[in-house]
Amino acid sequence: MLEEAKKRDHRKLGRELDLFQVNDEAGAGLVIFHPKGMLLRYIIEEWERKEHLKRGYDMVMGPQILKVDLWKKSGHFDHYRDNMYFTEVDGQTYGIKPMNCLSHMLIYKSKIRSYRDLPLRYFELGTVHRHEKTGVLHGLMRVRQFTQDDAHILCMPEQLNAEIRAIADFVNYAMGIFGFEYEVELSTRPEHSIGSDSDWDLATHALENALQDNNISYEVNEGDGAFYGPKIDFKLKDALKRKWQCATIQCDFTLPERFDLSYIGADGEKHRPVMLHRVILGAIERFMGVLIEHYAGAFPVWLAPTQCVLLTVTDKQIPYARTVYERFIEAGIRCEAYLDNEKLGYKIRQAQMQKIPYMLVIGDKEVAAQTVSPRARDGQNLGALPVEQFIAFIREMCEKKQ
Ligand SMILES: [Zn+2]
Repeated sequence: MLEEAKKRDHRKLGRELDLFQVNDEAGAGLVIFHPKGMLLRYIIEEWERKEHLKRGYDMVMGPQILKVDLWKKSGHFDHYRDNMYFTEVDGQTYGIKPMNCLSHMLIYKSKIRSYRDLPLRYFELGTVHRHEKTGVLHGLMRVRQFTQDDAHILCMPEQLNAEIRAIADFVNYAMGIFGFEYEVELSTRPEHSIGSDSDWDLATHALENALQDNNISYEVNEGDGAFYGPKIDFKLKDALKRKWQCATIQCDFTLPERFDLSYIGADGEKHRPVMLHRVILGAIERFMGVLIEHYAGAFPVWLAPTQCVLLTVTDKQIPYARTVYERFIEAGIRCEAYLDNEKLGYKIRQAQMQKIPYMLVIGDKEVAAQTVSPRARDGQNLGALPVEQFIAFIREMCEKKQ
C-alpha cells in the first residue's frame, strides 16, 4: 500500500506528466499550472459550469479583495483573521478573500427579494487565499491559493430540506462520474463560533433532518463545524481507500442576520432567509491532486489532457500525420503528434510514460488506406479505423464520461 501510494504521489506524477509546479521561488503553497494541468482543470471547470446551470444555479463572480469593514461585519476579522491576508489600497485596508460568501450576500442585497424569488443559488468558481502554516503545505493537497466550486443558496427555512437533498444528490452524481465512494459526517458547533444557541440548534437540526429524511447514513463529528454554522462533510475514498474531504454543506442563520438579508413573505411581512454554503468537489487543486493519485495519472479519456498521440514510423508519413492531427484538433480531440525521427520504440515508450489513452502508429499501411490504428493504454488494438470513426469513438467516450 505504501509502495503504491509512493508511486501515485501526485507531486511526482505532476512532474512526470508535466501538469504543474509548486516551488519556493514563486512562493510556498502557490501552484503554477502547466499547459496539460491547466487543460485538466479546464475540463473539470467546464463540467462544473454545465452541471450547475442544469441545476438552477446562477453564475456570479466577486472581487479578490474587499474592504476590511465587511470582514468585520461578517465575523471573519474576529474569527478567521489569522488565516487571512490584508493589503492597503489608497490608505484603506482590504482583506483578500478567504471565502466567497460576502459578494454573494451583496448580490442578494442589491434588490428587494420576494418569497417567489427563492431559493436563489449563486455559484462561483471562486479563488480564495488562506494562510496555511508552512509545515502543512503539501503539493496540490494543502495550498495557500485555491479555487472552490462554491455556491451560496438563500432560501426560506421550509426550503432547506429540499435544497440539502438536491445538494446531496449532486454530490452523489459527481462522485459517480469521477469514480469515488464516499462517507458522510455531520460536524457540530466548534469552540470559537458566532451566533445564538437557538440558531445553532435550528441549523444543526435542519442538516440532521435532511440526512435522516433522505436515508443518508452519517457519523457525528463533534465541534468540527465552521465558525458560523454546522456542516455536512462528504469524505471521498480514493483507489487506495484513503479519505479526502470534498463536498460540504453548511447551514448558516448568522450571516444573513449580520448582513440584514430579508425577503417579503406571502404574508407581506419581512423575513430572514437562511443561507447554505456548499462546495461539491471542494478545492479544485486538491481535487486534482486526489484525481491524479486515484487514477495513478492514467486518466479516463474524458479527463485526459492528451487523449491520443500520433506516432510516425519514418519521415514519409509526416504529411498524412499532420493532416490527421489537424482534423483531430479541429474536431476537439486532444491530440499530440510525435513526428521527430526518433525510433518508433522510443516514441512508444514516451507515450506509455505519459499514460496517454490511445496510441496511433502511422505507417505506410495507414497512409495508403487513410486510416488510423488505435492501440489502447491497456494494449488492446481497435484495428484500422477511418479518422472520422475514431473521432466519433472518442466523442462517445467523453459523452459517457469514460
Ligand atoms: Zn460561504
